Amino acid sequence: MSFVVMITGIPGVGKSTITKMALKITKAKFRLINFGDLMFNVAVEKGLVKHRDEVRKLDPITQKEIQLEVARRILSMAEKEPILIDTHATIKTPKGYLLGFPLEVIETIRPDFIVIIEATPSEILGRRLRDLKRDRDVETEEQIQRHQDLNRAAAITYAMHSDALIKVIENHEDKGLDEAVAELVEILDMAVMDHA
Ligand code: AMP
Ligand code: MG
Repeated sequence: MSFVVMITGIPGVGKSTITKMALKITKAKFRLINFGDLMFNVAVEKGLVKHRDEVRKLDPITQKEIQLEVARRILSMAEKEPILIDTHATIKTPKGYLLGFPLEVIETIRPDFIVIIEATPSEILGRRLRDLKRDRDVETEEQIQRHQDLNRAAAITYAMHSDALIKVIENHEDKGLDEAVAELVEILDMAVMDHA
């Protein structure tokens, strides 16, 4: 029996930080998979990109093929151990928002939990400005809010096609991080019970 938790949240929300901290605390043994890393690996194998931030600029049909290949790889890993996927509900591409998990992809992965990490648009904007390593798109607070709204809507459709439960975790500046981590740990600890 597999146990798959999907962690979503827009760039700069603190998703990867919270995930790594929660994994140090939980008693459950999860394999952490960054969906973007696997997307990048497959795109490089196919000779389509050289840099990570080029993946979301590939044409949507090509990205969908890569998503499906990644989903199949994850499925075979999920047979062996609980999986935590660091990913995105929707990806902002130059042509429009792309679904992170189109029908065939969500039906392949069938997550047990979809965690949505959120913060206020001004908090996200501030974190993006401090993270200069990445080629992040520059967005206004209104655009950030719209993206978060779309991600909630996308999560509903993913739950519809997988029986996943949805959990929204807020990550705010003042003391928010520890609370956010604790909420995620609570979800991950359920895997221990499921696999006992
Ligand atoms: P990161 O922000 O480090 O998590 O990496 C994000 C990049 O990985 C995105 O810009 C996308 O190109 C890609 N990515 C991550 N998850 C997905 C997904 N579910 N579907 C398509 N691309 C994804
Ligand atoms: Mg990340």
